[in-house]
Amino acid sequence: MRELNATADSLQRQHNAIDELNQQLHHSQLDEAQTKAFLDTVIEHIPNPISVKAPHGPTSDPLDWTFSLVNKAYETLSGHTRAQMIGQSARNLYPNQTAAIIAASDRQALESTTAVITPELSLSTTDNGTCIVTSKRVAIRDRDGAAQYVLTVLEDVTDTRRSEARISHMAHHDPLTDLPNRAAFNSSMTSALQDAEARHEQFTILSIDLDRFKEINDVYGHAVGDVLLQEVALRMQASARGAFIARIGGDEFIAIVTGGVQPEQAEIVGKSLLAAFVDDFIIDSKRIQIGLSIGGAVYPTDGADGKTLMINADAALYQAKAALGVSILFFKPEMGARLQERHNLQRDLKVAIEHGDLSLQYQPQFLMTGEPIGFEALARWNCLDRGMVPPDTFIQIAEECGLIMPLGAWALREACREAASWKAPLAVAVNVSPMQFLQGNLAQLVHTILLETGLAPARLELEITEGVFINDFSRAVSILRQLKSLGVRISLDDFGKGYSSLSYLHSFPFDKIKIDRAFILDIEQNHHSMIIVRAVIGLGHSLNIPILAEGVENEAQRKFLEQAGCSAVQGYLLGRPAPIKKYKELVGPSFTLDDNTLGIAS
Ligand code: C2E
Ligand code: CA
Ligand code: CA
Repeated sequence: MRELNATADSLQRQHNAIDELNQQLHHSQLDEAQTKAFLDTVIEHIPNPISVKAPHGPTSDPLDWTFSLVNKAYETLSGHTRAQMIGQSARNLYPNQTAAIIAASDRQALESTTAVITPELSLSTTDNGTCIVTSKRVAIRDRDGAAQYVLTVLEDVTDTRRSEARISHMAHHDPLTDLPNRAAFNSSMTSALQDAEARHEQFTILSIDLDRFKEINDVYGHAVGDVLLQEVALRMQASARGAFIARIGGDEFIAIVTGGVQPEQAEIVGKSLLAAFVDDFIIDSKRIQIGLSIGGAVYPTDGADGKTLMINADAALYQAKAALGVSILFFKPEMGARLQERHNLQRDLKVAIEHGDLSLQYQPQFLMTGEPIGFEALARWNCLDRGMVPPDTFIQIAEECGLIMPLGAWALREACREAASWKAPLAVAVNVSPMQFLQGNLAQLVHTILLETGLAPARLELEITEGVFINDFSRAVSILRQLKSLGVRISLDDFGKGYSSLSYLHSFPFDKIKIDRAFILDIEQNHHSMIIVRAVIGLGHSLNIPILAEGVENEAQRKFLEQAGCSAVQGYLLGRPAPIKKYKELVGPSFTLDDNTLGIAS
C-alpha cells in the first residue's frame, strides 16, 4: 500500500511537471507569434522603405532573387502592391537598368560580412517617376554562413535633393526673371577669364540697359514693369545665340560672349538682341515699345580682369546711350578718357562745394502786366581750371555721385538767405533735384532753413520736375504735402518735356506750371509748339493753376503768350540770370547788396 502510494505521488508529480511544461510550451508559442506580429507591425510602420529578398533556387543569380517581404513605405516608393511583388524578382518589376543596379548592390551585400551602403541612385518607379534613394543592405546568413536573405533599408532623398537644388537655383538666379543673377555672373566671368587665358582666346562682355524703363515702370506701374522684365528676359534668352545672359540690376543685364573672333561674334549677338526688341511688347493689352543700349568690352584688349572689363563695357554703354540713334558700341580707349574726365569733374565739384566756390544767379519772373513776381535762383560754378561749367553738366554729375545733397542744401539756404534780405517781398524759386526727394529729409531741411533765414514760407517756391515722381511716387507725394503744409509753394518745371506730364497734375495741387522753354523757342515757326502752348495755357485756366512760360527771348513770343492768356513769363527778353546786384531796383535797397556802405560782407 505504502509502495503504491509512493508511485501514485510520483506519477502525480510527473503529471504536474508535464502539465507545467505543456503550459510553458503553449506560452512560448504564443510569445513567438506575438513577437512576430509585433515585429511585422514595427517594420510595416517604419517610414523607410524596407525589403527582404531570398534566393530563388540554390545557385541563383541575385538578379533572380525574389522579394519575400516589403513594407508599406516600399510599396509607396515602388508603386507596386506587395501582392504584385512577393515572389517576384527585381528583373520582373523594374526596368532593366534599375534591376541591374539593384542586383549589383545585392551582390555586393552578399559578398560582404558587414552592412553595405550604396550611394545615391535614381530609381525609375511606376507611379512616382524617378526617385533618388540611398540604401543600406545586409546579408542574413545561416549557421554555416550561407546567405538566406538580403535585407534592404532605403532612404528616399528625392525631396531633400530637390529642395537643395531649388535653394542652389535660388542662390544663382533672379527670382523675377529666372535669369542668372549677379553671383552667377561673377562665377561665369571667373571661368570665362580662366578658359580664355588657358587657351589664348578672346571673349566679350556686353553691358545691356533698357531705354526709358524707369518711365515705363512709373507710367504703367510696377506690376506691368515686372511682367515687362519677364518678357524682356525671355526675348533676350531666345535671341542670345547661346551667350550667357544675367540680370544684374533693375533694368541692367549682361552677356558673356565666348568663342569665335571678337568683337565680331559679340556684334552678331548684340544685333540679334536688338532685333528681338523691334516688335512692341503687349502687356495687359498695353502696347509698349522699349529699346536696348549695349556697350561691349573685349578680353584681353579692353581689360585683363573682370573689373576693368565691366568698367569699360559700362563706359561704352554710357556713350551708346548718350549718342542718338546708336544702340551698340564697343569700348575705345578715348571712352575711358571721357570717363576719367567725369571722375575729375566729380572730384573738383566736391572741392568747389566744400570751399564755397559755387554761386547763385537770379533771373526775374514777371506777370504779363510787367509786374515782377520773383526770381529763379540758378547755380553757377566758375571753376579756376575750366572756367564756367554749365549747370546742366555739373548738376547731372552731382546727381550721379550724391553731391546733389550738399549742393541742393546750399542752394536752398543761400537763396532763402538772399531773399530774406530784400526789401520787396518777392518770391524766390529754387530748383530741387529728384534725388533730394529720395535721400534725406527734404521737408525737415526746408523747415530748418526757413527758421534759420527768417524767410516767410510763402515767398519760397520749389521748382520740381516730374522726375520726382519716377522712383517712388507715394513717397514723393507725401513729401510734397509736407512741404505744402509748411506754406511753401510748389511749381512743376519743364512741363511738356517728359513722358506723360498730364498724369502728375492729378496727383498734386501745384501752385504753378512752367512750360518748358523748348516749346517757346520755336513757337513762331512750329505749329505744333503753338498748339501745345495754347493747350497748356487752357489746361492751366481750367485747373486754376497759373502758367509761366520760360525762355521768352523776343517780343513776338511775349505777345503770343499774352494773347493766349499766359499768366507769367521769364526769359532773356525780360532779364538774364545774373548776380542779384544787377536787380537792385527790383528787390530794393538791402544791407547785403551794398556791402561797402554797411560794412557787412556779402
Ligand atoms: P531750368 O530749371 O529749366 O532753368 C532755366 C534755364 O533756362 C536756365 O539755364 C536759364 O539760364 C535758361 N534760360 C532762361 N531764360 C532763357 C532764355 O530766354 N533763353 C534760353 N535759351 N535759355 C534761358 P541754366 O542756368 O543753364 O540751368 C540749366 C538747368 O540746370 C536748370 O534748368 C536746372 O534744371 C538746373 N539747375 C540750375 N541750378 C540748379 C540748382 O540749384 N539745383 C538744381 N537741382 N538744378 C539746377
Ligand atoms: Ca527751373
Ligand atoms: Ca525749366
